[in-house]
Amino acid sequence: MAMATNETPGLVCAHHHLYSSLARLMPAPPSTPTSFLEILNLVWWRLDRALDLDIIRHSARLGALEALARGTTTIIDHHESPCAIDGSLDVIAEACAEVGVRVICSYGVTDRHGAAGARLGLDENRRFLASGGKGMVGVHAAFTCSDETLAEAAAIASEFDVGVHIHVAEGEVDRDAAERVANLSTDRWLLVHGVHLVDDHGISGTVVHNPRSNMNNAVGYARPARMSNHVALGTDGIGADMLDEFRLAFVAARSTDVTTTPDQTWSWLECGWQLVPEAASDRVRWDVPSVDPWYLAYTTGVNPLEVVVDGDVVWADGAPTRVDPDEIRTHAAEAQQRLFRRLEEIS
Ligand SMILES: [Zn+2]
Repeated sequence: MAMATNETPGLVCAHHHLYSSLARLMPAPPSTPTSFLEILNLVWWRLDRALDLDIIRHSARLGALEALARGTTTIIDHHESPCAIDGSLDVIAEACAEVGVRVICSYGVTDRHGAAGARLGLDENRRFLASGGKGMVGVHAAFTCSDETLAEAAAIASEFDVGVHIHVAEGEVDRDAAERVANLSTDRWLLVHGVHLVDDHGISGTVVHNPRSNMNNAVGYARPARMSNHVALGTDGIGADMLDEFRLAFVAARSTDVTTTPDQTWSWLECGWQLVPEAASDRVRWDVPSVDPWYLAYTTGVNPLEVVVDGDVVWADGAPTRVDPDEIRTHAAEAQQRLFRRLEEIS
C-alpha cells in the first residue's frame, strides 16, 4: 500500500522508561544533584524503589497513551522496580496492549541490590521471554553489574535469540563499559547513549541516541554520526514524542556540523523499523501536507490525525479509540499521589 504524502509508518521510541511517566512533579530530592551519578542516586534510584505493580501499571498506561497521542506505535521499554520485580514486565505489556501500543519489554538487571537482586532481575527477563513475551534482556549498565551478571544476561539473550538492552557510557562513571561488554555483544544489542564511547569502541549493536535526556543530564553530546553502528532514537523516559526528538536530534547534530541534513537524522528514526519490523506496517496520518524530513525538521506542533496499529484504528479525531483517556489520567494521578507518599518515606 502506497503511503499518502502526509503519512508515515508508526514511529518507534527505541529507548523509554514507562515507569517514569508519573515522576513529573515528584518531590524534590533531599539535596540538589550536581552530577550524573547524583541524579541517579537522588532521583531515579529512589523513584524505582518506590514502585509497586499497581503504580507501574498506571504509569505504563499513561505513557502508552502519551505515545499514541504523538504517533508513536512502538515502545522499546527498559524497566527497573527493585521492590516489585516479579511479574513487572507482564504488567507493562498488558498496559500497552490495552491502549494499543506495541512494546518490547526488558528488566534492567543490576548488582546495586546485591547478587540476589541481580538474580531476581535475570529471572524476570527469563520468565517473561519464556512465556512468549516480546522482549529483550535488560541490563542497567556495566558499571552497576558484575562480570558474572553481564555474562548471564548475554547468555539469556542468546538463548532466546534477542538482544541485550543496556545503558552504555552515558556518563564518565561508565567509561570502561566497552572493555566489559564488547566481547559479549551481538548485532541485536541496543547500546543506549554511548556518549563517552571512543569511535572504535568495538561493541556490536544499535546505538540509541537520546538527545533531550543527554542535555538534561549534562552528560555531553554523543555525536552519533561518528558511530559505525546503526543509530536509532529514544527519549529515555521523557515522553515518546519522536518527531520532537527527531527535531532535537537534528539541531543538536547541526550545532556541531552545519552540513548535517534532516535526511541523515530521519534515518535514525527509520532505524526503529529495522529494530521492530512490525511497526513499519503501522500507519500515522499527520495534520501537515508533507512528511518530508526537511519539512518536519522545521515544523513544530505536528499532530497525528489517525493512527493504525496492526490494521486497527487506535487513534482518531484527537483521541484513543480503545481506552478512555480521562479514566487513564484520573487513575494515573491517584497512583502518582501514592508514589509520592512512598517516596517521602525513602531516605
Ligand atoms: Zn535510560
